[in-house]
Amino acid sequence: GRVSDSSDSVISSGSESAEGQAVYKVVLLGEHGVGKSSLARIFGGVEEAHDAEEAGEMMVGNTYDRSVMVDEEEASILLYDVWEQDNSPWLKEQCMKMGDAYIIVYSVTDKSSFEKASELRIQLRRARQSENIPIILVGNKSDLVRSREVSKDEGSACAVVFDCKFIETSASLHHNVLDLFQGIVRQIRLRRDTKEE
Ligand code: GDP
Ligand code: MG
Repeated sequence: GRVSDSSDSVISSGSESAEGQAVYKVVLLGEHGVGKSSLARIFGGVEEAHDAEEAGEMMVGNTYDRSVMVDEEEASILLYDVWEQDNSPWLKEQCMKMGDAYIIVYSVTDKSSFEKASELRIQLRRARQSENIPIILVGNKSDLVRSREVSKDEGSACAVVFDCKFIETSASLHHNVLDLFQGIVRQIRLRRDTKEE
């Protein structure tokens, strides 16, 4: 993959990932416009708008396959940015079923997207009742300081209530984006390791 900032070097091209290694399916959820596709493109290494077009990003849905080195161990991630691909209840249901982990995104500049994030968390809990699936709540667009509608404290308080991790990101500034994906890998491993006992 291309290097975009110093910390990005821990991401390597997905095709070189070890065979036989577990591939974790990570699903992006959240209201339209919160920055799901922007975050996914950074993860996938397709950053410029024209690159995205070349890569077929003009389609509404996309899946990114990458390996990430986290704590000196490689992890393969399949990132699904398909939540808004169409409005069929079937797709939404599939999304709720298929993930090994979830990234629920809202925009810190949009209170209603924050409320929607809570709804999605509840839906997810309902769909996967007995499972303890890793979820990270993401407050994106942290760079838009003057139009902020949701404070960091509100975000982290919500995550406590919903028993999930929390991070604020800025896709525009690439702030915390890598931490987000490393965080999801650590969460998955944590659940995996406690299950094995
Ligand atoms: P999606 O509908 O959730 O996939 O959201 P997109 O990734 O398409 O982003 C919606 C709009 O918000 C686009 O115009 C992005 O450029 C913009 N955007 C996404 N993330 C950020 C961010 O962190 N900061 C700012 N300022 N704009 C962002
Ligand atoms: Mg999108």
